Amino acid sequence: EVSKVWEPIQIGPMMLPNRVLMGSMHVGFEKLEDGVERLAAFYAERASGEVGLIVTGGAAVCREGGMGDAYCNVYLDEHVEPLRLITAAVHEAGGKIALQLFHAGRYAHQEATGVESVAPSALQAPINRHKPREMNPAEIERTIQDFADGASRAIRAGFDAVEIMGSEGYLINQFLSPVTNKREDDWGGDFARRARFGIEVAKRVITAVGPDFPVIFRMSGLDLMPDSTTMEETLQFARMLEQAGVSALNVGIGWHESKVPTIAMMVPRGAYVWVAQQIKEAVRIPVIASNRINDLRQAEAIIAEGRSDMVSMARPFLADSQIVRKSRAGQFDEVNTCIACNQACLDHIFDGKVASCMVNPVVGREKEWALEPAMVSKRVAVVGAGPAGLEAARVLAERGHQVVIFEKQNQIGGQLNYARQVPGKEEFNETLRYYKTQLNQMGVQVRLEMAATADSLIEEGFEEVVVATGVNPRRPDIPGVDLPHVVSYDRVFEKKAKVGRRVAIVGAGGIACDLSHLLVQDQPISPQSAQYLLEYRILDAKAMHQLSHSGRKVFMLRRGKHVGTGLGKTTRWAVLANLKRHGVEMVTQIDYKEITAEGVIIRNQEQEQLVQADTVIIAAGATPNDSLFHALQGRLPVHVIGGAKEAGELDAKRAIYEGALVGRAI
Ligand code: SF4
Repeated sequence: EVSKVWEPIQIGPMMLPNRVLMGSMHVGFEKLEDGVERLAAFYAERASGEVGLIVTGGAAVCREGGMGDAYCNVYLDEHVEPLRLITAAVHEAGGKIALQLFHAGRYAHQEATGVESVAPSALQAPINRHKPREMNPAEIERTIQDFADGASRAIRAGFDAVEIMGSEGYLINQFLSPVTNKREDDWGGDFARRARFGIEVAKRVITAVGPDFPVIFRMSGLDLMPDSTTMEETLQFARMLEQAGVSALNVGIGWHESKVPTIAMMVPRGAYVWVAQQIKEAVRIPVIASNRINDLRQAEAIIAEGRSDMVSMARPFLADSQIVRKSRAGQFDEVNTCIACNQACLDHIFDGKVASCMVNPVVGREKEWALEPAMVSKRVAVVGAGPAGLEAARVLAERGHQVVIFEKQNQIGGQLNYARQVPGKEEFNETLRYYKTQLNQMGVQVRLEMAATADSLIEEGFEEVVVATGVNPRRPDIPGVDLPHVVSYDRVFEKKAKVGRRVAIVGAGGIACDLSHLLVQDQPISPQSAQYLLEYRILDAKAMHQLSHSGRKVFMLRRGKHVGTGLGKTTRWAVLANLKRHGVEMVTQIDYKEITAEGVIIRNQEQEQLVQADTVIIAAGATPNDSLFHALQGRLPVHVIGGAKEAGELDAKRAIYEGALVGRAI
C-alpha cells in the first residue's frame, strides 16, 4: 500500500520531502533571554523530526500591524540578522522553513507597538480594547509594499519560502470581509474591490521574490462570522490567488473573535477538512488542510481520499517534536499526542506568557530541562499513577532509575480517567496510551490495586519516594450531606454511584462542568453521523442536541459568582455555551440551607428555594491526600507532587509539570 503522506510534493519551485507542514504558531520565546537562540533550537528540533516544512509564527511587516517587540518582526533591516540564526539552525537539521508575513490590522496590540492600529474601516474588534483608525489610500499602498519588503528580507534571512497571513481575521481577511470593510473607494464595496488588497499583496510579494521562491497564501476558508464572505466568494478568491501566481493555499478556519470553536478539544478531529476540500476542487495548486489534525494516520486518510494535498498541524509539534519521524517509523503508540486542551499553549499566550505544552512541559524550558542521566541509579517508588506520578515515573526511568509505580485503582491514569469519559474530551485517552507505552518501554514496574504504606516501602528497600497520591474530595458542611442520595464526584466518575434524572451539583468549577457534560450527554452521536445528519438536513442542530441528550436535568450550584473557574480563557466560553445549550442551569451567589430527600434548599437573595434533585453530587473542591508523605518524612527522602501537594481544581497541567520537575531532581 502506497502512503500518500510520505510522497514528496512540489510547492511552486520548492520540493518538499513529505506532506506535513508545521503550521504557524506564536510561542513567545522572543521575550526570553536568548529568545532567538531558543527559537532557533525549537525549530531545529522540529526540523530534525522530519517535518516537510515549518512556518514561523507571524512576523509583522510594519510596526502598526504587529504585536510589539515580544513578537517576531520583519519590518526593519536589522530584523534580518537574528532571523538568520533560525534559518541556519533549521537547515543544519535538514529542514525547510517559511517566514509568515503578518499584519494584524485591528487585532494589533496598540500598547505593545506604541502606535495606533489601523484597519480597512474604523471598526473595533470585540477582542481588542482599541478602535483602529481607517487606512487612507496612501497607507494601503505603503502596506502592500511592506509585505513585499518583508518577503525580500525573508530571502536575505535565508528562508525557503514565505506564507502571507490572510486568514484568522487579520488585516487581509479584514479587507476581504464585508463585516470589517465598509469602504466605498477602490479598496472596498463590492467583492472585487474587497478582494483587491489581498490579491495586490500576493502579486507584489511574488514580484519581489521572483519566480524561484515559493509564496504560500494562508486564506480563510470559513470566517465563522455572521454576514461575512460567502463560500462562493471564498472559492472565487482562491481562484484569483492561483491566477496571481501563489504556490499553494493553506486554509485557515475562523476568526479569533468567532463564536464557533475551531481548535478546541470538543471540535471533532478533521472537522473542517471539508472546507479545504471545496477549495481544492476549485484550484489546481496544492491545498493544505488544517484544524484539529493530530494524527498522521488521519492525515494519510485525508490526502489519500484526495481531500487536500498536504496537512498543517501546529500544536501537535509542541506535544511531540518527533511526531513525523515516529509516525513514519510506524511508532504511532509512542507519539505524545496533542489533546487540543490549549491549557499551556494558547492560554499561556493569551495571558502574555511563553507557550508550553500540558503533555510536554519541556516546551519553553528546553535549555533548563535538558535531560541528564542520573549520577546514581536508585530504586525509586512513585505512589499514585495519575498524571503527576506517570510523568515522574517516565522521566525517572528515562534517566536510568529503577522505578516502581503503585496505584490503588485497577488502572493507571488517576483523574485522567475522569476527563476521558467526558464527551468531547476523548483525546485524554491518547495521553493515557502514551504513558502506558512509555512506562512499558522504559521498564517501569506497574503495581495496580496496591496501596503502598510507609512501612512497606521502607521494608522493600526503596531509596527515594515520590508521593503523587492525589486528593480527597471535600465534604462541605451542609445539613443533610450524609443522606443516601448525596454522592461525591469521584464516585460518579468511577461509576460507583447511581445518578437519577434530576441532579443538583454542589460546586460549579471545572469538575462540575465535566460532570454536567457527562450527565446530560450520555448518548453521544459520533461526529461522522452528526455531520451526515446535518449535511442532509435530516436533523437540525437543535434536534441533534435533543437526540444526544440523556434527558437529565442538571443544576450547578455555587456560592460564588463565577462558573467554570479554573478553565482556560480559550475554552471556558465554549464549555459554558455548550452546557447552556444542553439545558444545564447555573445558579450562583447562593447559600446552602439544607439537603433534603427532595433536593437542595438554597437561599437566593433572601429567598428560599428548593432545587429538586434525585441525586445530589458534591463537587466542592478537595484536600491534599498527603498522609503517606507525612508518614515518610524523616524516614526516607520523599517528594510530594500534584494534588497531594496542593489540591486545586483538576489540574493535569500542574500535575505533569511537577512530575517532570521531580523526575529531574532525583
Ligand atoms: Fe496540545 Fe494542550 Fe499541548 Fe497545547 S497544551 S499543544 S493543546 S496538548
